[in-house]
Amino acid sequence: TKPSTFLVPGDKTSAGTLAIISLSRDNFLPLTLEKSTGAVDGYLEGATLNTRFGSYPHSTLLDVPWGSQVRASNVDTGSRGKKRRRDATDEDTPIASQDDDDDSTAANAPVKKAVTAPSGFIYVLRPTPELWTTSLPHRTQVVYTPDYSYILHRIRARPGTRIIEAGAGSGSFTHASVRAIYNGYPRDADDVKGKVFSFEFNESRYEKMQVEIGHHGLDDLVKLTHRDVYNDGFNVNGESPNATAVFLDLPAPWEALHHLSRRKLQKGGEEAEEDSSWVSPLDPKQSVHICTFSPCIEQVTRTVTELRTLGWVDVDMVEISNQKINISREKVGVNYPTEKGYNSSPADVLEAVTKLKSLADRNKETQRVQVLQTGAEGPDSEMDLDSTPNRENQPSNSNGAVDDMEKPWVQGRLVHRPESELKTHTSYLVFAILPCEWDEDAEAAAMAKWPCGN
Ligand code: SAM
Repeated sequence: TKPSTFLVPGDKTSAGTLAIISLSRDNFLPLTLEKSTGAVDGYLEGATLNTRFGSYPHSTLLDVPWGSQVRASNVDTGSRGKKRRRDATDEDTPIASQDDDDDSTAANAPVKKAVTAPSGFIYVLRPTPELWTTSLPHRTQVVYTPDYSYILHRIRARPGTRIIEAGAGSGSFTHASVRAIYNGYPRDADDVKGKVFSFEFNESRYEKMQVEIGHHGLDDLVKLTHRDVYNDGFNVNGESPNATAVFLDLPAPWEALHHLSRRKLQKGGEEAEEDSSWVSPLDPKQSVHICTFSPCIEQVTRTVTELRTLGWVDVDMVEISNQKINISREKVGVNYPTEKGYNSSPADVLEAVTKLKSLADRNKETQRVQVLQTGAEGPDSEMDLDSTPNRENQPSNSNGAVDDMEKPWVQGRLVHRPESELKTHTSYLVFAILPCEWDEDAEAAAMAKWPCGN
């Protein structure tokens, strides 16, 4: 099987694969690249991405190295009377204008001449779970990167791990977990180890996600099942996923936990009726790590109670409070005297020094020139990270200008500012471990490895 571009992107873009188009710093658009013929007789033919930053026939996005900057096309994206043109009018809703089948206006569509000037550029980025999370079509609330990176670490997701996930929702967590468990290609039938067993109760979400998983080439790594896991548990076609990691993003995780046991149990931990066909969805030979993801503390307490009742240990809860910190050099502020008083705006350093020198020359006796290192304090709290010494104390060169003037990259104090927008609460993460059952065989196997066993 051809590996997914999420996992093995190759060096360049190709037809039929997903690319993430960066329209601006925080504006990403997933786009499946199609073969297109590009410009014919001054018109763009075939699949074209129309944005307010210009039009991009897919032919200009194909076979280019991932990360390439692509300039807008300078030919008209209008049809030749066959296909109606769609323009994105809003930056946030660019239209990936694939062949538009709506030719209700085709008969009236004027034949357009090539007139459009290039108006911008975009970047073609390789798909990653992080970019997919920021650009995916939302069908539900999703798990974001700060949470899922910590969760995958805590549930010990690594190449070869078999993960149970419910509900699948919009597939944000699914894409992150599939990269974590991917253990390389080729994947022989005997070598299908790492896998995500994902469950979704809502039929339309299940169907949409099934299509996405196929488009993204992840079919053999994700087994998606349409299922109410509260009632029907986590086995697939009567077979155990043999999971060692579980992630539950459900409204009532405590309703599903009794299925994640080593013996058949009812909710609350009571033994269920004898059932010889029953198999545990968990790997019998390894401990299992679970995370449940719930926005409310009431959900947490119910989940924790059920986990303890069912024999899970090391139960704890974490809340991720993600904050971005921007670090930059602040332009040097220079206080220099003018006719109207002191100008303290952080102007260009060289310009300011030149003015300083000429003023100082004119008023040698009376003017006192101060060159201060401090810049204007912004409203945010700041910290001087490298304590650059006061410029007055720095050595001067033969022209009287300080040496750092020639090194713009070290000019200014290094400051950090937390992003003003603090991410609000997403969810509480409850973690726990279900130890593997210990019997005489396990003890014998462990002793056989003694003292170097693992
Ligand atoms: N983790 C997902 C993501 O990152 O995109 C989002 C999950 S969304 C918040 C919760 C999902 O659980 C919904 O799609 C819902 O339909 C599904 N769900 C709710 N109850 C369920 C059940 N009993 N069995 C399976 N899925 C269920």
